[in-house]
Amino acid sequence: MHKSIPYGKQFISEEDINAVVESLKSDFLTQGPKITEFEKAFAEYVGSKYAIAVSNGTAALHLCTLALNVSEGDKVITTPITFAASANCVKYCGGEVVFADIDPKTYLIDYNKVEKLLESAPIGTYKGLVLVDFAGRAIDLEKFSLLAKKFNLWIIEDACHAPGGFYKDSNDEIQNCGNSKFADLAIFSFHPVKHIACGEGGMITTNDEKLYQKLLLLRTHGITKDASLLNENEGGWYYEMQILGYNYRLTDFQAALGLSQLKRADEGIIRRGEIAKTYADFFNNKEYIISQSGFVEGHAYHLYIIQTLKRKELYDFLRSKGIFCQVHYIPVHKLPYYKDLYKESKIFSESEKYYNNCLSLPMFPTLTKDEQEYVMFEIDNFFNA
Ligand SMILES: *Cc1c(COP(=O)(O)O)cnc(C)c1O
Repeated sequence: MHKSIPYGKQFISEEDINAVVESLKSDFLTQGPKITEFEKAFAEYVGSKYAIAVSNGTAALHLCTLALNVSEGDKVITTPITFAASANCVKYCGGEVVFADIDPKTYLIDYNKVEKLLESAPIGTYKGLVLVDFAGRAIDLEKFSLLAKKFNLWIIEDACHAPGGFYKDSNDEIQNCGNSKFADLAIFSFHPVKHIACGEGGMITTNDEKLYQKLLLLRTHGITKDASLLNENEGGWYYEMQILGYNYRLTDFQAALGLSQLKRADEGIIRRGEIAKTYADFFNNKEYIISQSGFVEGHAYHLYIIQTLKRKELYDFLRSKGIFCQVHYIPVHKLPYYKDLYKESKIFSESEKYYNNCLSLPMFPTLTKDEQEYVMFEIDNFFNA
């Protein structure tokens, strides 16, 4: 009998532990030199100009909607198949979330449905797009950026699932998730289930200096001590709170952990790709599989998803075998908070079909060959019994 296998798991090495211990012995507990080092290394990793470390991915999203001045009644479009936080960041600022259905082939927001929404309303109705690299599959931001230009929208890329992911643009050039070439801002999470773990943690990346400066202020109460930014200067102690900000700082020892984990990020992506390839080949001709993530270039494989008509039965069966799969996600518009908010019950048929059938299989770099074979064997066993 195998010990239980979760769908995702962090990997903390001796090196990671040493990095944290070393940081704890330094003079800095909250923001110190490790933050700057982590930000620099992360910006380099994704290919963006700036990176701002924050306390978690949700705080990153909130700072983005604040920096983009989302306000009362502003309409923002996102996908129903994501973690609730992708939508909540709009609500935090009093905005209104409008969902557009997914493309059943990619499980990502459907470009054509977004275009239709935009074309069916006067220009200026919508303010922005929160686009999610769901499961780790890079969304074609170049294509969406043209739409954004035409309709005067900003773009936040929710890249929580996709550090290390990429797509190829119309010039066949590689565009890394979060490089902010075709988005105003991108965000990441360092929750243990994500690729890089800090315990809690998040990152915003951007190429826009103005947004970067504003995000720095917003991260720390809207307070600055930077002499070049002060309206007045009454002495060495003097600071100004210039806008209403928050305390969304990451600690230095968390940054030390993130930095150490980042060094293994490429290794992790390679291993995730191998696991995905094995699943893709195994399920390729199985008649009980309606659809699967498959093997896609540039996919970061945060999740590996299969779809089957017997999802619930399969989920329960695998649990009884110690295999703990998960469902990603309950469509956001079906969550009680959003259901109550939008009294008229909207139907997004592709998202709902997807939700009824989807299951995320174990996917993490330390999943052994033996464990993966056991997972595949038990799935086959369920359907052939
Ligand atoms: C995890 C996640 C978030 C939120 O990140 P936290 O660090 O948990 O706050 C936002 N969006 C997506 C798509 C996520 O997976």
